[in-house]
Amino acid sequence: MYEHPSALGVAIALKPAAPVTLIRPQAAARAARFFVEKFPGRSLYAVKANPSPDLIRTLWDNGITHYDVASIVEVRLVAATLPDAKLCFMHPVKAEEAIAEAYHVHGVRTFSLDTIDELEKIMRATGNATDLELCVRIRVSSDYSELSLASKFGAELGETKELLMATRQAADALGICFHVGSQAMSPHAYTQAIERVRAAIVDAAVTVDIIDVGGGFPSVYPGMEPPALELYFDAIYRGFESLPVSYSSELWCEPGRALSAEYSSLIVRVERRRGDELYINDGAYGALFDAAHIGWRFPVTLLRTVDSKADMKGFSFYGPTCDDMDHMVGPFMLPADIDVGDYIEIGMLGAYGCAMRTGFNGFSSETVVTVDDEPMASLYRQDIAAPRRANVVNIGQ
Ligand SMILES: *Cc1c(COP(=O)(O)O)cnc(C)c1O
Repeated sequence: MYEHPSALGVAIALKPAAPVTLIRPQAAARAARFFVEKFPGRSLYAVKANPSPDLIRTLWDNGITHYDVASIVEVRLVAATLPDAKLCFMHPVKAEEAIAEAYHVHGVRTFSLDTIDELEKIMRATGNATDLELCVRIRVSSDYSELSLASKFGAELGETKELLMATRQAADALGICFHVGSQAMSPHAYTQAIERVRAAIVDAAVTVDIIDVGGGFPSVYPGMEPPALELYFDAIYRGFESLPVSYSSELWCEPGRALSAEYSSLIVRVERRRGDELYINDGAYGALFDAAHIGWRFPVTLLRTVDSKADMKGFSFYGPTCDDMDHMVGPFMLPADIDVGDYIEIGMLGAYGCAMRTGFNGFSSETVVTVDDEPMASLYRQDIAAPRRANVVNIGQ
């Protein structure tokens, strides 16, 4: 892994023919410290957002001790990378073999569930263990989020009473968890979800030891500039404090995106220009799945030694594979004179970007470079709270 001061420096020094992943450990460290210091409870990192061992070690070094894992491969990865981390297996539908290995081999004690069947599976797989922390996932609205997680998992209000009572009987500690959907654009998402938690607790009349408000904390992208994270934390704390169980329960959250988005970006090269379409060397099967499939707009910057004087113009991207679906509509704002051979930095790909790469069609990115400059936008620094305007290349100063 090379080290360079900036994205521009990497483009100049390496003139890379394949995409280059840039990593910014200092940005992930800052995000981790922010959650550790300011979230009024415990923050678990949701590993699926970016399972890089280097990132996980950086988060650990900056105070994140608990990890939300969703598959046995993630359990093994974090257990091997951080032997002292606490793992919480928060996928509500697990293979019985995965539960057994997590419990017996890796010491996992925390599991989530949303049905009686899953509760019975966990009890069978752990030999009716008496030291389990079991979190019942309830269904909440995704109305305030850019990416819904509302239809797949979570017990409905009519089902929670029986499930909470049965889980209370089986568990050493009982939790209630939910997920408001990813990139929640308003703190109200959590306020509303905590109201559902209250209704479920009152209905079942159980004592609860953990309230886990899940992930969904936003990052910054063009056209998606969320309120300050402190406002989310305040809303969550107010909701939590007003629950009948707050005096005896712990508050948890499980950020994925917010802890990892600023960690990575990508340098790509323009291989062809056709009007306002740029053919670049990464795409839907690389780190740009969300840009292709759900129209996510990532910030972009032209990396040139001498800034372009041309006006900004909206471009769409084609990725390198031979597939029409390898298309990112954008619009991505870049100088109108951009052309073949130019390098572009695509920012904020640390969450659900670099983690989703495939090697389809022989296109992939093996080079990873650590850089010292700031990410293209940050939730954790007021002065760059909004995405850097494309081609204002104040990197490498
Ligand atoms: C994906 C996921 C997360 C992380 O969500 P973000 O929106 O990235 O914060 C947290 N918890 C669970 C159970 C998840 O599935």
